[in-house]
Amino acid sequence: MLGLMQNWPLTCNKILDHAATYHGNREVVSRLVEGPITRISYKDLRGRALQVAKRLEHDGIVFGDRCATLAWNTARHMEVWYGLLGIGAIYHTVNPRLFPDQIAWILNHAEDRFLFVDLTFLPIVEKIRDQLTTIEKIIVLTDAEHLPEAGLSVIAYEEWLAETDSDFAWKAFDENTAAGICYTSGTTGNPKGVVYSHRSNVLHAMAALQVDMLGLSSRDRVLPVVPLFHANGWSLAFSAPMAGAGLVMPGARMDGEAIWELLDTEKVTFTAAVPTVWLMLLDYLERTGKALPYLERVVIGGSACPRAMTEKFETNYDVRVIHAWGMTEMSPLGSVCTLKPEYADLEGEARLDIQEKQGHPPFTIEMKVTDDDGVERPWDGKTFGRLKVRGPAVTSSYFKGEGGEVLDEDGFFDTGDVAHIDAHGYMQITDRAKDVIKSGGEWISTIDLENIAVGHPEVAEAAAIGVAHPKWDERPLLVIVPREGTNPTREDLLAFMQGKIAKWWMPDDVVIVSEIPHTATGKIKKTALRESFSNYQLPTI
Ligand code: AMP
Repeated sequence: MLGLMQNWPLTCNKILDHAATYHGNREVVSRLVEGPITRISYKDLRGRALQVAKRLEHDGIVFGDRCATLAWNTARHMEVWYGLLGIGAIYHTVNPRLFPDQIAWILNHAEDRFLFVDLTFLPIVEKIRDQLTTIEKIIVLTDAEHLPEAGLSVIAYEEWLAETDSDFAWKAFDENTAAGICYTSGTTGNPKGVVYSHRSNVLHAMAALQVDMLGLSSRDRVLPVVPLFHANGWSLAFSAPMAGAGLVMPGARMDGEAIWELLDTEKVTFTAAVPTVWLMLLDYLERTGKALPYLERVVIGGSACPRAMTEKFETNYDVRVIHAWGMTEMSPLGSVCTLKPEYADLEGEARLDIQEKQGHPPFTIEMKVTDDDGVERPWDGKTFGRLKVRGPAVTSSYFKGEGGEVLDEDGFFDTGDVAHIDAHGYMQITDRAKDVIKSGGEWISTIDLENIAVGHPEVAEAAAIGVAHPKWDERPLLVIVPREGTNPTREDLLAFMQGKIAKWWMPDDVVIVSEIPHTATGKIKKTALRESFSNYQLPTI
């Protein structure tokens, strides 16, 4: 016997309809790439998205077509997403920080027909135009006035849009239709496309809104510093309008001063980004003595949130830190570290111990930790293993079958992360499987070493890597970037770490450098670091 409820396909356009109908006056504020701050209501943004959809259809874009965006977070970028979604076409966000050749490869692989691009990224497009085999139109997200003399054939977005109106109705289609594509840049092989569906985006946004997850409300004003081109924009272009929360889009400027300005003038209550962004903001606050009177919660994910960062936000600025973990393949949210009753009364160091964990999953995510043979490991908060996940917004395979089969026999996806889970279901990442240091057959967590090192007041950034050792196989080398104007030494660091970790986890050496390489998504590039230290002579050999 089947239930007798209505069949109401979970398609993304319904999110914007809801925001426009019930939260119609709430604003999306944008710092445009051209400079000025603009404001648009959800009601008007929906009108423009309908206009985009109508224009796309007029130009021959049909159900199942892919169109790429190479753009910052602005209302225009969001309109383009929703316009595409509304006719069953697919937004493909491209990360402009990739090498131009990689961008060309990705656009060709996805067979994108149109490319929506911000002014900032036109030089990249000029460089690769000749390599692009499927792009028919390049639409620059600006008006005719700001359109530069380009060597390329391009169209100004506002002109393109003005040739039509918003008298259009969204198309109807199955909720399992593809909605968006985001390529992950693995460290080896070609990038692989993760393909979200309308249903997965809607369910994921609902899961993210659970109070013990991101818990947004219509009283929030949300600043997604995390770009829409990173891991589905952490779903904020869906979850914020679904909750009726306003949005503040930072455009191209992500330095400490620019972010602080928006947080303050726009009275932002909720923001989200990777730790590197928050390092810049905290540094700016410390240098200028500025405060964060309106900000209530900050989501920190993408890389482990250092303990010292949580402490600073909470103690010095009265901002609650929400440590979150996820990945492109998970739409992206996997877990959030909010405090359940078991931990809610903890204070001081004991509370920070828990906040260092990546937390517990929302309803929609199942998690397990296994050994290399797939045997589940105990939930004791210390036994590491491979972290695997299953759920309706977790990838089941990559675009065009790249990478082959990705699920185990029970349908779980191997995240490539190493983690342990405690008795209350709190997961803690200890490493990427390929970064973990293997010393004498035991594993040393690089994330733990890095978190402790950045707690030293003179350390701006730290990376731990395994270096070959004849007896132990690998031993840890700690690489640090000092804070401006300081000169920490190897001995200072080792003394600082003493007693905070097991003796055999202590780095065999510490190297001070001026810069650590980063990937296009802002993570430490461990492969490059391992390569540059591949012949490093540890003093312990
Ligand atoms: P991406 O798909 O580029 O967002 O990268 C996902 C990967 O980033 C995960 O598999 C983790 O290795 C890492 N990651 C994301 N969030 C965290 C976090 N809070 N702590 C540690 N690693 C994280």
